[in-house]
Amino acid sequence: MRDIKELWEIFNERFSDTGLRKGVFAAPGRVNLIGEHTDYNDGFALPMAIDKSIVMIAQLRDDKEVRAYSVDYDSEAVFSLMDLEFDQENLWANYLQGVIDEIQKLDYYLPGMNLIFTGNIPKASGLSSSAALEVVTAYTISSLNELNIAPVEMALLCQRAENGFVGVNCGIMDQYISRLGKEGNALLIDCRSNEYELVPLAIEDFRVVICNSKVERGLVDSEYNKRREECGKATKFFAERLDRRIKALRDVSTDELVEFSGELAATTLSRARHVISENNRVLTAVSALKNNDLETFGSLMTESHISLRDDYQVSCQELDLLVNLALKQDGVLGARMTGAGFGGCTVNLLARDRVDKFIAEVKAGYQKKTNIEPEIYVSLPADGAREL
Ligand code: ADP
Ligand code: MG
Repeated sequence: MRDIKELWEIFNERFSDTGLRKGVFAAPGRVNLIGEHTDYNDGFALPMAIDKSIVMIAQLRDDKEVRAYSVDYDSEAVFSLMDLEFDQENLWANYLQGVIDEIQKLDYYLPGMNLIFTGNIPKASGLSSSAALEVVTAYTISSLNELNIAPVEMALLCQRAENGFVGVNCGIMDQYISRLGKEGNALLIDCRSNEYELVPLAIEDFRVVICNSKVERGLVDSEYNKRREECGKATKFFAERLDRRIKALRDVSTDELVEFSGELAATTLSRARHVISENNRVLTAVSALKNNDLETFGSLMTESHISLRDDYQVSCQELDLLVNLALKQDGVLGARMTGAGFGGCTVNLLARDRVDKFIAEVKAGYQKKTNIEPEIYVSLPADGAREL
């Protein structure tokens, strides 16, 4: 990624100094360590922020105009704060407009801005570049205008921006971790209560390694909606059968699932089994981390993959290949697909001194079978949004 000095040069070439407050801000992407497809079932997830982010330079204006330049797309969007509407041409601008819209709905009176931004989070690969763009926008606006928007409130307004203005039905995980992440920690998120807990990820001798299959997440939208429907069906079944309030699969135990398994259609049963077992895995994984038991943590990651592959059926050949190649390497504690599935990335936990060999072997093996060169990133748990 370009350094900050270079970014200031681009900014200064494009905009004249308004003499008003200015600054540089960043928000990271994330990788979900465990807890997949649990967020919309009121469940748990455990992501960490990665050391890839979106960086924004901005300066306030004395009118209501926003001039935003995407360095990576080399395109500029100009809009008025009083007239926000969906931009068909510059789709990236909708993340900014959505966030501004949500902040204005909180009755903040905002001045215009000149801004530029760039990022090194691979787009549409399951590492959540969209949440990083929303969060860096909100963080920039809050800081330059001294709004002091509280971290959770900021994450939630960014989620509303993506749900509403952009029109993507995402849960709270991505915006939470991009705002609340902390170096050296994963973040346990309870997607029902919206509560969270930082969980130290003491992995001195280990590394989190992310393999990007470079496969576009083709089926993801239609299949995602189908999975949500199937979970809804399972929830309805248990709500009718169990003598207490069942709002989501979060409320159903493994024993209950087994007890009623004969009455559920095979697909509904396997979807429910993934969600219920995945929630349990997240909580067991957090206990393992607290006991410094990375072996158990790694095994749970691999179990999560098997469940996503066989029960939830959201993996694909390329992701399975990456996981299988990973599990054959020395020093690997666990490997799984991460993100919604059907492409995107895998996440692996492995011994630090095996990382180079791992990268070489997995790259070669993947390329040989698919003719695609994967991208591989090594990351420690990074900080959430911040001023640079
Ligand atoms: P993901 O969040 O998994 O990376 P999404 O499809 O949700 O994928 O979001 C990707 C979109 O976010 C891009 O198509 C683009 O509009 C916007 N975006 C992300 N990173 C950048 C960037 N560096 N510059 C401009 N737009 C970006
Ligand atoms: Mg996204």
